[in-house]
Amino acid sequence: MITDPVCGIELDQNLATSYTLNEQIYYFCCDGCKKIFIKKPKKWLKKLNRK
Ligand SMILES: [Zn+2]
Repeated sequence: MITDPVCGIELDQNLATSYTLNEQIYYFCCDGCKKIFIKKPKKWLKKLNRK
């Protein structure tokens, strides 16, 4: 399973919207989460790495 780094929801990769940053693909449940991530990617990546 992949996880939306913004809201923490588990996603189906086929249904998720994706965004590529530094050659890494991130998946989001919706464009809203994607926009939030794009604004402050570092904040959300920190959160991801903590898991
Ligand atoms: Zn989300």
